[in-house]
Amino acid sequence: MLRTHTCGELRMTHLGQEVILCGWIQRSRDLGGMTFIDLRDRYGITQMVFNMETDAPLCESARKLGREYVVSITGVVMERSNKNPKIPTGDIEITVKQFKILSESALPPFTIEDQTDGGDELRMKYRYLDLRRPAVRKNLELRHRMAIETRNFLNNQQFIEIETPCLIKSTPEGARDFVVPSRMNPGEFYALPQSPQTFKQLLMISGFDRYFQIVRCFRDEDLRADRQPEFTQIDCEMSFVTQEDILSTFEGLAKHLFSSILGLDPGAFPRLSYKDAMEQYGNDKPDLRFDMRFFDLTNEVSGKGFKVFDEAWIVIGICAKGCAGYSRKQLDELTEYIKRPQIGASGLIYARHGADGSLKSSVDKFYSPDDLKKWFLVAGGEPGDLLLILAGKPEHTRKALSELRLEMGRRLGLMQEGDFKPLWVVDFPLLEWDEETRRFYAKHHPFTSPKPEDIPILDTSPGEVRANAYDLVINGVEIGGGSIRIHDKQLQKRMFAVLGFTEEEAQSQFGFLMNAFEFGAPPHGGIAFGFDRWCAVFSGSDSIRDFIAFPKNNSGRDVMIDSPAGIRPEQLKELKLRIDASGQ
Ligand code: ASP
Repeated sequence: MLRTHTCGELRMTHLGQEVILCGWIQRSRDLGGMTFIDLRDRYGITQMVFNMETDAPLCESARKLGREYVVSITGVVMERSNKNPKIPTGDIEITVKQFKILSESALPPFTIEDQTDGGDELRMKYRYLDLRRPAVRKNLELRHRMAIETRNFLNNQQFIEIETPCLIKSTPEGARDFVVPSRMNPGEFYALPQSPQTFKQLLMISGFDRYFQIVRCFRDEDLRADRQPEFTQIDCEMSFVTQEDILSTFEGLAKHLFSSILGLDPGAFPRLSYKDAMEQYGNDKPDLRFDMRFFDLTNEVSGKGFKVFDEAWIVIGICAKGCAGYSRKQLDELTEYIKRPQIGASGLIYARHGADGSLKSSVDKFYSPDDLKKWFLVAGGEPGDLLLILAGKPEHTRKALSELRLEMGRRLGLMQEGDFKPLWVVDFPLLEWDEETRRFYAKHHPFTSPKPEDIPILDTSPGEVRANAYDLVINGVEIGGGSIRIHDKQLQKRMFAVLGFTEEEAQSQFGFLMNAFEFGAPPHGGIAFGFDRWCAVFSGSDSIRDFIAFPKNNSGRDVMIDSPAGIRPEQLKELKLRIDASGQ
């Protein structure tokens, strides 16, 4: 080894020892007769001292070292007179006897410190430098620990990790596929997997019974802050299980990660049906760090001559505790917030219950204090509280109120970092109606099993059918989702028919799976977790990018390696592909 210790290791117990450290020069300071240099590696920072009086030539050459030079330093561990309690090595410093430059560095384009001066694009272009910053490095260390703990837990539960191919045929996850041209089969393309869904089901038919894989998946979607074209799933599948078995097994995994990574025990995870989640929070991934459930005034408010309420399908609201004193300005801000085009509500009605018992609303013309009293009763509100009420069509109004609820949560500081509220959302609808194409789509994917008791209405009221499908949600973020699968060939055929596939289409796209079902398919089900996102949520961050070593930017580009890029004409020729001058 070129070093005896790391830059995070030395303490008072090492006083007097001669050591060799290697690392990058974080910063240097010349103070009269002394020069101090902070040497950094993956493990920490250690202070080096050079003394002009005792060794002027060495001190002078140390003053020439630039930021990010890589050096090897030999010296003696000494007690610091000016201790730095902020770093673990802050009690000691190294009096340097000699050093060697291992590699010079150009001036870095931004400072390699937690509070850096580099903008987003610049740091992406020099990602390898950004990764030197402790804050970014810590994210990858967390990711590593999460992966190791996931493997430990699943291995102990008899899961076996099996790799599935990356060059496949389209998987039915509903996003756009990335495709790869095949040189040996001109005019034909592989697709990169959106998930290993069909393969893991085939592995169940092969008898592997408990499979998992920490696996890269690819989806060619328009990017948002929390999306990447390639991302990682903890993908799992089990045979001979009910939904209950899956929920308890993976609640076990989640609890193991909570305790091993965060040292927390979040208790048993509550379960909420999709229907209740939508009615109580307007959202299938509710943030349960705070309650503020919806209340329904639809019946209470009708027939008093207020047209907005009389004509609304639903009138619902939330109770903001202790907010009765909100000013006109604060209420206007909330109204503006929900009127933004992304939310698109038309207006906000409020009612306040003053601490002195007074009752006032923005619709006093139509509703008496006695009416308002009833509203507060329904809302579970007390003196000092404020009711915020929206009216309109169910889906739209619930969505807008959900946004308002989250905004109030933020304003009132109810979404505390370090507080984690996981839950299962269950009983998702099997199908989703698309107005534009006027047909049903699978809400999860076409292999998801309907609830057995709902199968009789599959052909008559498909929209009503519930699925054995579930999501794990933590703090308003969907961490994972899965389902019990259809393992009966006839039911799978019916499902394809409901989804509008002809028999030929179903056969040509999923024939391999349907055929496999002919050879003894066990009942099975599974789940997949968004690994990058889980890491982000555990760190209290909302960007998965920070947890990926080499992520893409918002236009799907890797600005460091400058990809995607054109390919050479010979490559195109080999692939029998042609691109015309306009790039079409
Ligand atoms: N393949 C599914 C997905 O990626 C997860 C599952 O059903 O296991 O969402």
